[in-house]
This record gives sequence, structure tokens and C-alpha cells, in this order.
Amino acid sequence: MFEKAQPLLQSYFGYSSFRKGQEQAIRSVLTGRNTICVMPTGGGKSICYQIPALILPGTTIVISPLISLMKDQVDTLVQAGIPAAYINSSLSFNVANDRMQAAKLGSYKLLYIAPERLESQEFLEDLKQMEIPMVAVDEAHCISQWGHDFRPSYRQIQRMIQMLPQTPSVLALTATATPRVREDICSLLDIDESNTIITGFERENLSFSVIKGQDRIKFLLDYLKKNERESGIIYAATRKNVDQLYERLKKEKINAARYHAGMNDEERSREQERFLTDQASVMVATSAFGMGIDKSNIRYCIHLQLPKNMESYYQEAGRAGRDGLKSECIVLYSPQDVQIQRFLIDQSSDRSRMTKELEKLQQMVDYCHTESCLQEFILKYFGETETNPCGRCGNCTDSRTTMDVTKEAQMVMSCVIRMGQRFGKTLTAQVLTGSKNKKVTELGFNRLSTYGIMKDRGAKDVSDFIEFLISQELIGIEQGTYPTLFVSSKGKDIILGKTQVFRRETVKVEQVAKSDP
Ligand code: ADP
Ligand code: ZN
Repeated sequence: MFEKAQPLLQSYFGYSSFRKGQEQAIRSVLTGRNTICVMPTGGGKSICYQIPALILPGTTIVISPLISLMKDQVDTLVQAGIPAAYINSSLSFNVANDRMQAAKLGSYKLLYIAPERLESQEFLEDLKQMEIPMVAVDEAHCISQWGHDFRPSYRQIQRMIQMLPQTPSVLALTATATPRVREDICSLLDIDESNTIITGFERENLSFSVIKGQDRIKFLLDYLKKNERESGIIYAATRKNVDQLYERLKKEKINAARYHAGMNDEERSREQERFLTDQASVMVATSAFGMGIDKSNIRYCIHLQLPKNMESYYQEAGRAGRDGLKSECIVLYSPQDVQIQRFLIDQSSDRSRMTKELEKLQQMVDYCHTESCLQEFILKYFGETETNPCGRCGNCTDSRTTMDVTKEAQMVMSCVIRMGQRFGKTLTAQVLTGSKNKKVTELGFNRLSTYGIMKDRGAKDVSDFIEFLISQELIGIEQGTYPTLFVSSKGKDIILGKTQVFRRETVKVEQVAKSDP
């Protein structure tokens, strides 16, 4: 059936080829599989059900909560010569009734309906008399309480599908990529999670990077001086951080605005306005800033501290470069931030969510330690499968040479095993570097064969190396009262010498300077 898709795309819509994901989605629904398609706004979701609707016999039902968009969509289809109609609360009873009569006669290829219609038993009875090969659920996140726009009437969709005489295939569409919402959509609409198509989240004009082991304020001030004509956002973790940085920037004569929830409404909107109108070039803010902000010329977005998870990071960083011009997204990473975030999660979340939140935090830490493409890391996190290195990010453009660190990795992992896989990163690093710490001796770890085998390196250095091994999934973290390390099966292969580990050489400026006569 798919052979018909391409000519239809050309003749009705005037496009010569499908975009990434569209073809996959169309193939999937045409073979009768329930499917979820996650694409960003503007990604081209409509084609994914409009083309199958033209190919399949009968009338495809499109459920959409956006009454104002429904009319536009239908008008466009009708203009293109595709018989379509919509039924929602904007119509008089008579008009709605006429359309439903026409629908029962099979007059439309697509019928758009508002979800509230499904509350009416009479309407459902009418649907039963139609031939419905497919149901497209637009803005499918509305079905989930975890989404940002829950609509109870979306819960009627399952009931409707179940009562149709011929089971239609379901295509759910959304731009919300969080795993939790996706899981909900799949379970509520009976979609096998493997039929998930996610694509188009790459932002080709953004270059991501992570800066580690540098004085953050110094880095920031240098960066701002170099980019003083540009507009940018600096996200800081707390109100206090925002205020401190704001004062500091003022002292440096940098034209900054600030924004956080501790300020009153008037102050906040004044500061926001200064930034939006380019009177202030830099916005220093907590994550309270940015919802609904549409400023296109933001050239950089810097996170002064580690964000709490990838979802919020990508959302915040994504505010840069809306105009399509090259922009930078930087995280200034420091290991202490992990402790702070962990503490915050400990304080706020309920127990059941805590493990999940800690895992998400760990993925954010992994992002900061990966040596492969950062954009690819993000896309994979959101579930995209066909990805390639971006060629723009800090890792893709890193010209340092790679070193074989298999031996060091073996040392660390055998130490973790000898310690019984019950301890965290700090203690492991202490044992490896031969620390005389009381806890080390009390536990008898000074008698292990791995005690002090890395004593020529600093504990911080070894700790970074352990983070690197975690990012490579060789060492895993068990989230308990406090996080403990264990060696993964991939890590065991390294210990057995089955595979090797490579790492980019870290340039140690200080050491070079020291050995200089
Ligand atoms: P979404 O619903 O995902 O926000 P739309 O379906 O409204 O996106 O499509 C966004 C824009 O992309 C529309 O202008 C649409 O005509 C265009 N578009 C969709 N598919 C293609 C394609 N294969 N080739 C070119 N343009 C396309
Ligand atoms: Zn890259």
C-alpha cells in the first residue's frame, strides 16, 4: 500500500519527499499497527495521518483539542481537493447534524472532532455506522496526567475505539518527548512501545558543550566579554546564585537583567521586558524564566550549575537559536553540584519518585562525562534511534588524541569488586589512591591488593575517571540511601580483557608548567 503514498504526497501536498519519520509512521499505520509518533512542533505530523487517510477505505477520525486550528486544517485539505470536515462546539446543532449525516454516507476522507464529542452517546452511535479504518489522536499528551495539558475527555478515546465494529489502527501524535508521558499514551491507547517513532529533535544550529575543571566565574566573565554584543541566558540553580551573579556582572559593567520567583510581579516583568527588547544583553535567571518566552536571537544559553535532568536541560538550552542562526549551549560542570542536586531531590520528592529522579540526575551527569557526541546523547535519551554525530559539539570538535585506558579501568573495577560493590565513588577513589582515611583502615581496605595502585594520581582525578567509566556504562550506580558502585556486565568484559576502553587525553596544563625548568 505504501507505493501509493509518494505520488499522493506530490499530487495533493506538492512535496517531493517525506521527512524523516513520516515514512516510517505511514508504513506502520498502513500495516495496521497502533503507533505513536513524536515530532517537534512544525515537524510535519499531519502528513502522517493525512496520507494514510487517503489510502485507506472509509473515513479517518482525527481527534484534536485545538478548535481554532481544526478549521484551518480542514480548509487547507478541502482546497487541496481532499474531502474533509470537522465537528466541534463552534457549529450550530443543525450544521453539526448535517455533517454527521454526510459522514455516515462516507462523504469525507477525514473527519476532525473535538474530544468532548465522545462524551455523547448519540455521537458514538453515529460513529458505529461509519467505516473507520484509523483514528488519529493529535496532541496525544492530553491523555496523560503527566503531560502539560491533561484533558479528561481524552480518556473517552479508548472506549470509543473499543465499541467500533471494526477495530481501527491508532496513530497518536505529540511533540512531548518525556518518557513518562509516552508510556502513558502507549498504555492508554494500546500501543506497543516498540512502535514508537521519534524524530526531528535535533537542533542543527545549536552546538553543545560541557566545561569542566575551570573557574566558572572566570570562564563566564571571559565568555561574556567576548560575546558582549550578543543576547544570552545564564541559568543558575537558586535565587541566591542569581542575585550574586547579577551583582557581580553589574560590577563588571555587564548589562544584565535577572529573573526568579523571589521577585515581585512588577520587577519580574520589568526585567523580562529589558531582556526582550535588548536593553539588557544577558538574562541571569532560575528555571522559573523562559516559559512562553519567544525571543529569537538568543545566541547562547549557559548553565552555571548542573541541570536536574535532560528534559529540563534540553528545554532550557533549546531557547537559544530560535532564529536558526548558530548558537551555543554550555554546561559549567562541577562535581559538587551533583551532591547539591541529590540533596534537593532528597528534600522534595516523595519516596516513590525519588529513585526515578536520581536516575535522571545520573543521566545528566553522564551527559557531562560522555566523550561521544553531545547532541547525539540528547537525541538517544529522548528515544531517537537513527542518529549521527553532529560535528558541532564540544566533543565532536575536540581534537585531543584518544588513549587506551583499559589497564586503569581494570584497576578501578577490580577495586570496586574487591570492596564488595557496596560503596560509593569517593571511598573507592580513596582506596585506589592509598588514602589513610579512617574509614578506609576501619573497613580493612588498606589490605586489599588494589589499595594505592593509583597513588600517583590525585583522588579527584581518579574520581573523574570513575565518572567517565560510569558514563561508559562500565560501572553502574545503585541508588540506595547513598549511591553505591557496581561493575556492569560490559565492565566485566573489560576486566576479562575481552574489550578495550579509550578515553580522550586530558591536557594537564599545571603539570606541564611544573616540569618546565
Ligand atoms: P506539526 O503538526 O508537526 O506541528 P505540520 O504537520 O503542521 O507540523 O507541518 C509543518 C509544516 O511542514 C507544514 O507547513 C507542512 O506543510 C510542512 N511539511 C510537512 N511535511 C512535509 C514534507 N514532507 N516536505 C515539505 N514540507 C512538509
Ligand atoms: Zn556532536
